[in-house]
Amino acid sequence: MKKLEEIKNEVLNCQRCPLYKTRTNPVMGQGNHQAKIMFIAEAPGFNEDLTGHPFCGASGEVLDELLNSVDIKRQQIYITNILKCRPPENRGPKPEEIKACSSYLERQIEIIKPKVICTLGNYSTVFVFERFGLKDQIQGISKIHGRLFESKTLFQNITIIPFYHPAVASYNPNMKQTLAKDFKILEKFKQSD
Ligand code: URA
Repeated sequence: MKKLEEIKNEVLNCQRCPLYKTRTNPVMGQGNHQAKIMFIAEAPGFNEDLTGHPFCGASGEVLDELLNSVDIKRQQIYITNILKCRPPENRGPKPEEIKACSSYLERQIEIIKPKVICTLGNYSTVFVFERFGLKDQIQGISKIHGRLFESKTLFQNITIIPFYHPAVASYNPNMKQTLAKDFKILEKFKQSD
């Protein structure tokens, strides 16, 4: 889609925050431009920075397993991050980096118009809840994971589902079960294409 291509070109040349100096490749996002379900995570990691593709490392393997478990293919969804460039040493995004970068994500959401946004981890949960007028319902991910939140405005109804970040499963195997249980909720939203 042309509008997403335009954003991609801007992201490729972006120097809005210092992360451009240390990135190998920015990671714009990937998937179906008409996706009903959009996944939003945190920032590219080591492998994503090398390849320019989201979730292609260890967290990507966990995500693929979870998607497979509910019979959803990557081609059916769209995946992106709040930050398009990798923070050094995989540290969390800084508020000023989120501020500098988030208009790309805002535009991606406006173009794709998902019916469901799945947030992966705390950073994207806070961002999306604030963006969709659910600020008063923000709690730590351990409290709200797997629950449905509805944002209804005059212009848009959207369902938001916060999940743990798949990376937690690589250092705590029990978390994979929790994630798998939470992902079951997606069975009722998946699109037939
Ligand atoms: N972790 C993220 O938050 N995003 C990716 O794209 C990969 C790992």
